[in-house]
Amino acid sequence: MIARVEPLTPARALRGPFDYRVPGHMDSVGVGSMLVVPFGRRRVLGVVVETASRSALPAERLVEPLAAFGRALPPELLRLGLWVAEEYCSTPARGLGLVLPPGTGTGTAPRVRPRRQLFATLTEQGYDALADGSRLGRRQRAALDALAGGGMEAAALLRSTGCGHAGLRGLEARGLVELSRVEVGRRPRVRGVGAPPQRDATLTDAQVEALAGVVARMDAPDPSDRRMLLHGVTGSGKTEVYLHAVAAALERGRAAIVLVPEIALTPQTAGRFAERFGETVAVLHSKLSAGERHDEWWRLRRGEARVCVGPRSAVFAPVEDLGLVVIDEEHDSSYKQEGDPRYDARHVAERRAHDAGAVLLAGTATPRPESWHSLRRLSMPGRVDGRRLPPVELVSMVASGSVLHPRTRECLEQVRAAGSKAIVLLNRRGWSNFLTCGGCGRVWGCASCDVSLVLHRAAARLACHHCGHAEPVPRRCPECASVSLARHGTGTERLYEELAAALAPLQVFRLDADTGSGQGAIDEVLTGFDAARSGVLLGTQMVAKGHDFPEVTLGVVLDADATLRFPDFRAEERTFALVAQLAGRSGRGQAGGRVLVQALDTEAPALEHATRHDAAGFVAGELARREVLGYPPFSTLIRVVCSSREAGPQARAAEAVRARLYPLAAGGARILGPAPLFRRKGRERSQVLVKAPRRTPAIRLLRTAVETVSADRAHRGVSFSVDPDPQ
Ligand code: ADP
Ligand code: ZN
Ligand code: ZN
Repeated sequence: MIARVEPLTPARALRGPFDYRVPGHMDSVGVGSMLVVPFGRRRVLGVVVETASRSALPAERLVEPLAAFGRALPPELLRLGLWVAEEYCSTPARGLGLVLPPGTGTGTAPRVRPRRQLFATLTEQGYDALADGSRLGRRQRAALDALAGGGMEAAALLRSTGCGHAGLRGLEARGLVELSRVEVGRRPRVRGVGAPPQRDATLTDAQVEALAGVVARMDAPDPSDRRMLLHGVTGSGKTEVYLHAVAAALERGRAAIVLVPEIALTPQTAGRFAERFGETVAVLHSKLSAGERHDEWWRLRRGEARVCVGPRSAVFAPVEDLGLVVIDEEHDSSYKQEGDPRYDARHVAERRAHDAGAVLLAGTATPRPESWHSLRRLSMPGRVDGRRLPPVELVSMVASGSVLHPRTRECLEQVRAAGSKAIVLLNRRGWSNFLTCGGCGRVWGCASCDVSLVLHRAAARLACHHCGHAEPVPRRCPECASVSLARHGTGTERLYEELAAALAPLQVFRLDADTGSGQGAIDEVLTGFDAARSGVLLGTQMVAKGHDFPEVTLGVVLDADATLRFPDFRAEERTFALVAQLAGRSGRGQAGGRVLVQALDTEAPALEHATRHDAAGFVAGELARREVLGYPPFSTLIRVVCSSREAGPQARAAEAVRARLYPLAAGGARILGPAPLFRRKGRERSQVLVKAPRRTPAIRLLRTAVETVSADRAHRGVSFSVDPDPQ
């Protein structure tokens, strides 16, 4: 048999797959098997992507694999990995890297091994010995006593009884104890903060109806479109619908994947699934240890777990017979991967669900125009408890000297007086946005990027939020020696001090990337806020994500239209979602709530619609605008960025890419650029943007264009990145 093998090497220039002759003794090798193969003078790990009875290569040039691993990848996952590579202009090795067991690496052996532990159990003679008063050492007896309650890990037994290793081996030699090595799963801990889920809640009418819609598609015999959008306002009980939908899939003997934005930020959601389905749930995410990820992956692969909950990468969970994919908070930008392959988990989920005949259920209070346009809609227009959504007030910041409008101060003051809670969103971290010299007007900028540096006072640093560069805060201007340096603007760090001073003794909790991105740090802030009797949670958009704190009576968004001042066609959508999501955190309890939105342009449509909680109206307007401008969902957007150290080569390369795209233009695509982008990480950048009516041919042509241009020596030193569905 001939195996066509895709080597797992990062080199872009290689064009696999390559043929190998499989010897008779490797009879278990098939599509999805992993092999160690000789490759040039090296040996590499590869994946069998196809088998054949004969090769186009002459027999004497065919070599045999050196080793085969029995750990086969399900063929549908293999296909998915290769498809992602194509769809996002990446390499097969990178695409396959997404679907392979975690810890596979690119070496010649899997890096993570199962964990084995010595496990002790009491034998029948052991029980007898305890009963008939056999001669035993004091500690040995203690060990047998402990084991009488059930087998346990040897190390723990020794620790708890003081029995030594030799003593335990002695018991084994006498046949009183049996010692065995067992593979143990490393299980991640899933924690929950916020309100505990209400068990056995009777579903509301809206939930019953939405669920019926999902189940009907699940059971529909025809292979028609099974993609659905659950548009439910914040607090409408979408999670409960997901839980029941997952249960329905399990009842039908099928598996489910639940995608959530970021586990660290919303452990509640993952926790609810774990509570409801217990051992059937596996959690996969990047904050797990390598061992935990390995073990969870294999629990899914072996079918011991049938539900996978995790962020975007969980779309590649190795479950078979998939019946349902849930995408919670489908508007969330974390579903897009920023590194190569630049996949969008929502798009991959559609593909995977389609191939498996599974239902795709995307849920949110603020749907993307793309989903609204193309998915079958289910709607839950009211909150579970029948409470109204909180009133939203827009306050104008024009001619305002302070970050906080008097009206905002007044409302915060009421929160303090009433002893309730507020959430304040300012999407800008650090102390102040930039620093200037009062003497000569110098602005402190990043040496590698065309952006100004942000002052972080506690860390005593000026930091670049694009490349991570940081430098000490200057005492005087290096150009004119003036010591009058002015700080402009306010970030979360500074606002924290202001609020803490103005609202004392009310406790203020801060949540942004500087307070820690680890699970522990985030948990600490969220649990602290949840446990406090009253307080203010202040932070970047991290505070608007799906949290459920019933005592919050006030939500505040500061500088809400900051996002609108960027030239990005998704700016409107982002702004609307940010305000609506923050509004969703307020007024979930008895006391009701209100929302204040501070902005410069209070007439921006995104803000106006958000004040009316009018997602449908907002999306309708967006769709009309996008149709005119030819943006998604009326086209596929693909972005090519060329970059180089010096200015010039990147622009010429972008021009060369554009010149190769004329067949697309002839087919109705619009091509914009090359346009300069701001310098980032020491690289000059130019971009070409394609709006193509048909996706696949456009991606194919772009890939060829970029490959040709990048292979041209005239463009040496230029890096290329192709990004379909850029965010
Ligand atoms: P969403 O995700 O739509 O914002 P959640 O799923 O977080 O809403 O639900 C909001 C709150 O309502 C949660 O505390 C949840 O436990 C509760 N809840 C959901 N469904 C019901 C129900 N049928 N009866 C009572 N409470 C419910
Ligand atoms: Zn100066
Ligand atoms: Zn920088």
